[in-house]
Amino acid sequence: MAGGGEAARLCAEISQREQELRGLRERLAAVLAEGAAGDGGAVEECAAAECAAAFPSELPPLPAQASLSPADILRYSRQLVLPELGVRGQLLLARSSVLVVGCGGLGCPLAQYLAAAGVGRLGLVDHDVVETSNLHRQVLHGEARRGFPKAVSAAAALRLLNSTVQYVPYCGALSPRTALELVRQYDVIADCSDNVPTRYLVNDACVLAGKPLVSGSALRLEGQLVVYNYQGGPCYRCLFPKPPPPETVTNCADGGVLGVVPGIMGCIQALEVLKIASGMGSSFSQFMLMFDAHEGRFRNIKLRPKKPDCAVCGDNPSVTCLQDYEVREKKIDAWPPFCKHKDIFHKLSPCLLW
Ligand SMILES: [Zn+2]
Repeated sequence: MAGGGEAARLCAEISQREQELRGLRERLAAVLAEGAAGDGGAVEECAAAECAAAFPSELPPLPAQASLSPADILRYSRQLVLPELGVRGQLLLARSSVLVVGCGGLGCPLAQYLAAAGVGRLGLVDHDVVETSNLHRQVLHGEARRGFPKAVSAAAALRLLNSTVQYVPYCGALSPRTALELVRQYDVIADCSDNVPTRYLVNDACVLAGKPLVSGSALRLEGQLVVYNYQGGPCYRCLFPKPPPPETVTNCADGGVLGVVPGIMGCIQALEVLKIASGMGSSFSQFMLMFDAHEGRFRNIKLRPKKPDCAVCGDNPSVTCLQDYEVREKKIDAWPPFCKHKDIFHKLSPCLLW
């Protein structure tokens, strides 16, 4: 094995470089978190470069943690005493990775609670930058980070909350080229996006990669949540086989949203992610949770099971790779973004009810 020595040397060098990179990222996060960027333009450029470099590189596996450290026991003591979680559940969380698609109104509270609870690795995807009009609901960002990539801003805020979690910011939109590669590297996917093409793309990638998808949405004073592709349950296409007509969808910019509503839905999304990752299982595999903030009411609606003729998870799927999706995406790319499926749901509700 003449190459054995060379391989070992290269492995050691990669390990050292990764350690250096982690150190640089931590220093960058500290600068961003302080909001004390004397040269804002240079820092923003640097943050974007850091993000671009990390998208979509292959991640090393999380270290196999066999026991909790004294620091872990102190930090998580209030949830460790729960018999439903315990040390076993906490170790499962530490070995879990979650991909958060969208660092906005849903993604901010979701990522915050996942980080606080001790998930091992959080991937943070967002193509956008922080704007003033985001701040009433996207509570990880702040005034000092306006203009910064949301993924980098979120990672910086989360590092202050729990520095033991690995954060991987991805500054860019998911595409058919990158989605599957990224989704495959994570255990649970949380869809916190705000547009139709991304919802179909994320769903298809999750089905092809065999990953559970915890999907949330919010608009005006209402929110919805479903867990797709989990323990034999339906996928998004089972419920919504075709994209909705453009006139039936609304976005947060046009329809408005009270900031706390996505906050509540993002927290419930985090709860379901934590239950799946820790082995408790989800309550919404075949149920849709609907939240009416105006009336202060939650409703659980039983959904039909997975469809045998679903285009992606059915017996004879027509969507077998995301290259097919590019053609489909062109058809629905012109559709306006939306934050919820209420109009679609009402239109299709008779066939969705059990
Ligand atoms: Zn399906």
